[in-house]
Amino acid sequence: MTGSTTHSTNTTAALPIKVGVSSCLMGEAVRFDGGHKRQIFLERVLSQYFEFKTFCPEMSIGLGVPRQTIRIVNAGNNPLDPIQRVVGTRDSTLDVTEKLSDSADQQQEWVADLCGYILKKDSPSCGMERVKVYTNGQPSRTGVGLFAQQLMRNNPNLPVEEEGRLHDRPLRENFIERVYVMHRWKQMLADGLTPKALVDFHRRHKFNLMSRHQDYYRKLGQMIANIPRNDLDNFAAEYLAALMQCLRKQATRRNHINVLQHIQGYLKRDIDSVDKHEINEALAKCRNEGLPLTVPMTLLRHHFRKNPNDYIGESYYFAPYPDELQYL
Ligand code: SF4
Repeated sequence: MTGSTTHSTNTTAALPIKVGVSSCLMGEAVRFDGGHKRQIFLERVLSQYFEFKTFCPEMSIGLGVPRQTIRIVNAGNNPLDPIQRVVGTRDSTLDVTEKLSDSADQQQEWVADLCGYILKKDSPSCGMERVKVYTNGQPSRTGVGLFAQQLMRNNPNLPVEEEGRLHDRPLRENFIERVYVMHRWKQMLADGLTPKALVDFHRRHKFNLMSRHQDYYRKLGQMIANIPRNDLDNFAAEYLAALMQCLRKQATRRNHINVLQHIQGYLKRDIDSVDKHEINEALAKCRNEGLPLTVPMTLLRHHFRKNPNDYIGESYYFAPYPDELQYL
């Protein structure tokens, strides 16, 4: 998903951070009963940072309001390997499986501009995971909404989350960070894809990747060390796929401590032994006694403010997205 690229280095205007969202989550009265599922967090907080694009797949296929509810049924007999159909709850001859899937295909033009997507949980259309699938009348939470399924198939690198999971802090932080990385990626493409732009992009995200997964971090580093002279678009597509796979992993405490230890090395000529000892002690307490990571992070940020370092200053590790979004 690199989009079309011109290999120039003109800097374009800052792109908005466009994020798709199930319409009912933004208070639109599109649910089967004419209601909505407004999420104040999205409407009041995230909308200050993201330009939301609302979409209701069930309305898009002409089901209207009010409407019969639909559900996913297993047209086979094996609950572990269901053949999913989306049909009316009252009238099972209403089958909208293909229509919902096609609806996702038809949105591809505007979806390609998005940096993320927030879906309504449990919906047979929008649910991202654990949606009820009925086998012989018995539900099991093994399904994925048909629109969501096709959306994710068409856009495997797109950060996607459900509104319910955004209440979980690590999942929320991971999603927001991926949205911001995707936005920076799109901005880089808009400014002009060049080998140098890719090297800079990677350099600025290196510690973010290191905090996620060592194998992916190494793989991405090797890729960047071997950027081909031609076929840059294909290379960028492969890099983006590996980047997003890496960022989907949750950062671990252990990896964060390793990153902070590494970063501390950039201060070795600038701080005295007392400050060094204080940082080392905080890192040791993080490792052994459960001290919050924010303690050494704050200490290091403080020292880098007093002793600026270009490499660390340009890194997105300490500020992957606006600070205000970290303290929700
Ligand atoms: S969950 Fe999806 S399909 Fe259902 S009302 Fe909300 S936007 Fe529409």
